[in-house]
Amino acid sequence: MSGDQTVSDDSAETAVAGDLTEDLIRTSVWDERDLEAAGIPVIEVPFVTVGGGLGSFAMVDFLRSAGVAVGDIRVLGDSLTPTETYEYLATNSQIPRHERLRSDASSVMDNIWGFPSYALREAWAEKSPRRIWQVVTEPVLDEYFTPKAGQVYESVAREAKRIHWNDMVTLGYVRMVRKRHDGGYFVLQTRPEPGATRRVAYRCDFVHLAIGYPGVAFLPDLQEYRERTGDYMRVVNAYEPHDHMYEELLRRPCTVLVRGSGIVGSRILQRLIDDRVGRGAQTKIIHLFRNYVGGPQGERRTFRRPGGNGFAYQGFNFPKAAWGGQLRVDLERLDGEGRAELIREMGGTNTAPRRDWKHQLERGAAEGFYEQIVGSVEHVDQTDGRDAIVTRIRTQDGGSQEIEAQFIIDATGLLARLDEHRLMADLLAHTGAAQNPYGRLDVEPTFEVRGTASGAGAMYASGSMTLGGYYAGVDSFLGLQYAALQIADDLAARGFGKRLGPLRSVTQWMRWMRDRTP
Ligand SMILES: Cc1cc2nc3c(=O)[nH]c(=O)nc-3n(C[C@H](O)[C@H](O)[C@H](O)COP(=O)(O)OP(=O)(O)OC[C@H]3O[C@@H](n4cnc5c(N)ncnc54)[C@H](O)[C@@H]3O)c2cc1C
Repeated sequence: MSGDQTVSDDSAETAVAGDLTEDLIRTSVWDERDLEAAGIPVIEVPFVTVGGGLGSFAMVDFLRSAGVAVGDIRVLGDSLTPTETYEYLATNSQIPRHERLRSDASSVMDNIWGFPSYALREAWAEKSPRRIWQVVTEPVLDEYFTPKAGQVYESVAREAKRIHWNDMVTLGYVRMVRKRHDGGYFVLQTRPEPGATRRVAYRCDFVHLAIGYPGVAFLPDLQEYRERTGDYMRVVNAYEPHDHMYEELLRRPCTVLVRGSGIVGSRILQRLIDDRVGRGAQTKIIHLFRNYVGGPQGERRTFRRPGGNGFAYQGFNFPKAAWGGQLRVDLERLDGEGRAELIREMGGTNTAPRRDWKHQLERGAAEGFYEQIVGSVEHVDQTDGRDAIVTRIRTQDGGSQEIEAQFIIDATGLLARLDEHRLMADLLAHTGAAQNPYGRLDVEPTFEVRGTASGAGAMYASGSMTLGGYYAGVDSFLGLQYAALQIADDLAARGFGKRLGPLRSVTQWMRWMRDRTP
């Protein structure tokens, strides 16, 4: 997946054309001559976006509509398609193309105007007003409409073609971003080449970082178990490929211990129960909760979300008002710990209140194949001679209990610590970037990375790394587009690209409708 874990990292490679000298590694501000002396070629381009995933895509989509030419943008990432990392993580965590995602009809990744929405397009394709009725009546008479994963991938691919995405992408791992003596930045990329790697520096005025999550997070006790025993097949992470588990479950009755009660936990439970109900698996599911939600959450009457049966329920990962309503305005006014606190209150672990999921769990509990247990894990180990892993937990009443299972699945999340990403760690050490009270990258309301200005140049960031800033839903389709809009406006004020005023916006939308290049 993203970050250091799979993007080819140069440290392991052999021959290097243009090596990083000790001097370059140590110094925070570079000069063109330093790179020349090291034999690293320099390419001039005004704007570079690092990552090449959905955050980069949203950024480039805005810039292209703001009149920026293909030649003035370079996308540095590890995949040609902007949806590749997303689809990898979504597919592993049991969201195949035909399943519905967790964002609303107007969070349209391929269209910065949000119109026509995913629901409207689906209604058009199906020649049925059903989806429009759903959007009009959601969430009171119906559940929130959410698009199918496949619809998002296909429409992003179409838009990528329209904006000439492929002509802007150069594959490779970005190792560091350093300030230039004369203002602006050098972005150092390591390109994979047969048998070796090659380093190239991009000399630019503006950098945008959208690198997603550094990797897959493991609960410490499961990580320790895997390292101690080398058992990577029976203790798996929901974001890793783990189809072998479902295949095994179809072959013989097993017990699976599920850890995590967020949206990914729900999707794993759905898959396990679908296989049991529809494909004959005889799986017994034990769901372990560390914090059990027994009822509605929240102290204030006006700020509460439903909860029960262990789960906190919310349509999306943050309340809708955090994207464009009152909560967005409230958050913009807050700073420091107060801002971090409001984000924690609005977010935290929660799942979507889908009726089919609730019915599945009720049925599982009634038929005895789904059992909930509350406790904190003390130790995980192999059993002697038996084909099971034993998890010893401390129960709420202070007692101890052992749970035996053939598989354990960790559905608790992705890594999000800045220092776990090599590029981010380097950024903190050398560019003046700092952490916000939430522990992520500190950004201005314009998404400029605080403390990193370099002459007339500016560095921006969007996505999960910026959580804790002035906007809560940064790691969402709409959040990526919101950040891209703020950045595009800031860039236009600095003379890069045109402002997307009403006239330009309407003209560009009409071009989008006719599938014409921006
Ligand atoms: C399973 C899952 C489901 C989600 N579902 C929804 C949903 O339904 N609705 C919604 O609105 N949001 C959803 N999100 C949240 C959000 O939309 C996605 O996380 C989105 O992919 C974020 O885009 P990004 O560009 O920040 O990260 P990504 O799309 O992951 O792209 C980052 C890219 O940067 C690359 N990279 C990292 N480091 C470097 C480096 N040093 N050099 C070069 N490249 C690098 C990575 O390999 C990766 O390809 C979901 C997230 C996940 C994980």
